[in-house]
Amino acid sequence: MLQMIIAKLGIVILMTATPNISCKIDNPDVGGCYYKQSNEIIISGTKDTSTNEFILGHEIGHALFLGNKQLEKMVNDYPEIRYYPRSIYNTQLKVNQEKIADYFAMYAKSPSDFKVFSPEIYQIFNNKIKNL
Ligand SMILES: [Zn+2]
Repeated sequence: MLQMIIAKLGIVILMTATPNISCKIDNPDVGGCYYKQSNEIIISGTKDTSTNEFILGHEIGHALFLGNKQLEKMVNDYPEIRYYPRSIYNTQLKVNQEKIADYFAMYAKSPSDFKVFSPEIYQIFNNKIKNL
């Protein structure tokens, strides 16, 4: 699924051992980032395959849904999958964007499990992909 989206959106994937430096994020745990302007995803090439796959799904989630106000509003009351440090993700809008990206990574990994988690967000993801 992810390869199909990458191809359709023409995203360039760059791998690096130091994504925090390439992404200019002051957090050594950062695994990747998406640059809208250049349509590039930078991810760590040094983590295990399943982690890389999740990071890739997460960044593609950003590529697909950055600026989607409806979805940002919708996820506001949903739980965070992981803790986003307030020093970096200092607004609720940014946290919501991270939630959306995590949710998309979950969806990409197992659509049927994600459908149980949130049928309504599942529908939005499904429609978006169908109409790429
Ligand atoms: Zn993110």
